[in-house]
Amino acid sequence: MNGKIKERYSRQIVISEIGEEGQEKLGNSSVLVIGCGGLGSPAAIYLASSGIGRIGLVDDDIVSISNLQRQILHYEKDIGKSKVESASKSIKDINSKIIIDKYDERLTEINVHEIFSHYDFIIDATDNFKSKFLINDTCVNLGKPFVHAGVMGFKGQVMTYIPNAGPCYRCIFGNIPEDDLVKRPDMLGILGTVTGIIGSIEATEAIKYLLGIGDLLIGRLLTFDALKMSFREIKLPDKSEICTACR
Ligand SMILES: [Zn+2]
Repeated sequence: MNGKIKERYSRQIVISEIGEEGQEKLGNSSVLVIGCGGLGSPAAIYLASSGIGRIGLVDDDIVSISNLQRQILHYEKDIGKSKVESASKSIKDINSKIIIDKYDERLTEINVHEIFSHYDFIIDATDNFKSKFLINDTCVNLGKPFVHAGVMGFKGQVMTYIPNAGPCYRCIFGNIPEDDLVKRPDMLGILGTVTGIIGSIEATEAIKYLLGIGDLLIGRLLTFDALKMSFREIKLPDKSEICTACR
């Protein structure tokens, strides 16, 4: 490891669970962030600053002024630009050494397998059920680990899926709620700091997985309530016998 790299990550390397070996592991790792919005912003920023070697960004949206309240990868100058472009620029400003793959497209049944196959860990930073179930089913199918998160108002939730180690998102949440298909996620309220907290937890799960340290949120749903300022952990049931993804 050269001196520059050692200096950049010195506050991380000094942690006994990480060290130079762990830092090198992160440098050789790849993470895919799906959604460059409220959750994807803090997740991608922390992944980049902590030295993940390659980061993939998926989003087909453009930056609008109402995004700036929480999507901290984007600035006023980015309004009207593609989110993936804007996010990529911000990440490069933080860490120019990182390789960034830009997917300026919507995740679909057609492209999802090909995109996922290139990454060690997947981060669900989306805001709609259709994408969440697509991410889950593909990760179960390919045997890829991922972290799920959802946010609304003052609340958030996170869980991690590791192949053969616990229930998947569909085991717990079943199918897409009919009435949620028609709801416009961009019309739901959310406090910006809540996406910051939950997105940061997602990045932390990715880093821990890549380093092979600590206890992941496997079989546990972590919920956060900013008004009460409390975290709660819900123990999840085992894999569902009727889950169409796991079957
Ligand atoms: Zn399942």
